[in-house]
Amino acid sequence: MNTLISQQITQRIADISASLPNTVRLIAVSKTVPSEFIRTAYNAGIRDFAESRIQETISKQAELQDLTDITWHLIGHLQINKAKKALQIFQWIHSVDSLALAQRLNTLAFQIGVHPHICLQVKILPDDNKYGWIIPELLSDLSSLNECQYLKIQGLMTIPPLGLENSQILNVFNSTRELGATINSQNWSNISIEELSMGMSGDYLMAVAAGATMVRLGTTLFGQRS
Ligand SMILES: *Cc1c(COP(=O)(O)O)cnc(C)c1O
Repeated sequence: MNTLISQQITQRIADISASLPNTVRLIAVSKTVPSEFIRTAYNAGIRDFAESRIQETISKQAELQDLTDITWHLIGHLQINKAKKALQIFQWIHSVDSLALAQRLNTLAFQIGVHPHICLQVKILPDDNKYGWIIPELLSDLSSLNECQYLKIQGLMTIPPLGLENSQILNVFNSTRELGATINSQNWSNISIEELSMGMSGDYLMAVAAGATMVRLGTTLFGQRS
């Protein structure tokens, strides 16, 4: 592949990794990016890659079979009828956005014999363009989610609405952390929010300031998606 692009990706990964606290996991969002770029990022030390589509992920995994220690993260909306496939190819699902999806994943996880890591996707502010729970609905679904014993429910994922001021974005991230603390204070047996998956290329510095433990970076590592 193009050496210049490869050097750029390597340099960006080095710079951003060095700037992040070591409590923060850098997840490279590789959706739409060719698998050679994933290989470059892997050689630069990245082991966590995020995708948003099932079929695209299957193709890339086939091309990267020799890289056996990659952790694959799903970050896009998951239709219930693709839940089984998702469990077969992703170790983390950040975009669990409804009780019905969680319950289906739980049943399938039992059948397949996997224990997926799960983030619950929350909308801190109203946003018609996004999936996810609003806070009161998430709180009232927790007792049912707690029954999903084959899921490792251990994180919250959020994406702020478009068009906010920086101070409002920071508020969204801080509120997400506080929501995690509220959930943990309820002492659920099967839900413990240890991960905050928040922060994309444009806002990850604010997310890190608010306590993100996973940042999902695409553009800033790989360049603009076509
Ligand atoms: C595409 C995407 C990202 C990465 O966005 P960039 O702005 O390219 O860093 C992160 N999270 C989710 C959920 C996405 O869909």
